[in-house]
Amino acid sequence: MISPLSFSFELFPPRTPEAAAKLPAVIEQLAAVRPKYFSITHGAGGSSPEGTYETLMTVVRQTGVEVAPHLTCVGSTRAEVAALLTRYREAGVKRIVALRGDLPATAMSASAPGEFHYANELVSFIRERHGAAFKIEVAAYPEMHPQASSPSADFEHFRRKVEAGADGALTQLFYNADAYFDFMERCAKAGITIPVTPGIMPITGFANTVRFCAGCGADLPRWVRLRLEELQEDKAALLEFGLEVVARLCENLLRNDAPGLHFYTVNQAEPTLRLLTTCGGADALRA
Ligand SMILES: Cc1cc2nc3c(=O)[nH]c(=O)nc-3n(C[C@H](O)[C@H](O)[C@H](O)COP(=O)(O)OP(=O)(O)OC[C@H]3O[C@@H](n4cnc5c(N)ncnc54)[C@H](O)[C@@H]3O)c2cc1C
Repeated sequence: MISPLSFSFELFPPRTPEAAAKLPAVIEQLAAVRPKYFSITHGAGGSSPEGTYETLMTVVRQTGVEVAPHLTCVGSTRAEVAALLTRYREAGVKRIVALRGDLPATAMSASAPGEFHYANELVSFIRERHGAAFKIEVAAYPEMHPQASSPSADFEHFRRKVEAGADGALTQLFYNADAYFDFMERCAKAGITIPVTPGIMPITGFANTVRFCAGCGADLPRWVRLRLEELQEDKAALLEFGLEVVARLCENLLRNDAPGLHFYTVNQAEPTLRLLTTCGGADALRA
């Protein structure tokens, strides 16, 4: 068993007043298992940097747990990114999830707008301006980023982010543990030793799981897709099956030296907490 294991939880800025009203209860439930930090998405689904900041401050005020804002750079100027970094530093933030962000539908990856093109440039920028004041997490893609020209080119681009100064990486969601183990072997061969924490998305439905996987290029094993499709009219049975599949994935990852787990909570406490309980409970796993 690895020690100390780290659990972190991703939240996104709520998009409606109703969702905002529900979030404090979700944060309270998740904070009770003492995650290492909450990360807060930026720009995903059309949210603004202001939304990220407000959600971050809600978590800080309510729990005191460490927060890590995501920061996407594509389409931004250096001055805009510099201003955000200053604001985060003044708010006591010590960790940033540094990303390129998704390109506008009209842009080709080679001609991304703004003063940053790729996440490695953002990592370098943060290091230049702020030295070691922030821990920097970057994204990793065990199954390859969908716009990459090849797995080896994508891995080379990952290596550049590490060389630019990333302290750790969080992976895109996946349901195929072998893809993660293969990625870690490639890291070992390349001399990359930063922790690469698997990103875990609980399964709570058929249509949303298929959509999430299609959106990020993750392989949903055929047998899992077929079983979810069959169970979609029986919510309780689907949740039970999804829990079993993802709990087995988590156990396999942790048994094989994953440094922790980063949960895509989708602003729901229960699916993530049930997973942790099924895997033996946060305290037992941390011990
Ligand atoms: C943990 C995690 C959190 C995320 N959070 C958010 C969020 O909050 N908001 C949001 O909008 N999106 C988020 N995303 C999605 C992410 O922004 C997209 O996947 C985006 O398309 C790529 O971001 P990146 O930081 O991985 O980019 P990069 O590492 O820059 O890579 C992007 C693509 O460009 C290629 N590439 C990199 N460098 C070069 C180069 N020098 N020359 C040619 N090609 C290159 C890579 O192979 C890859 O295909 C998240 C993803 C993950 C895994």
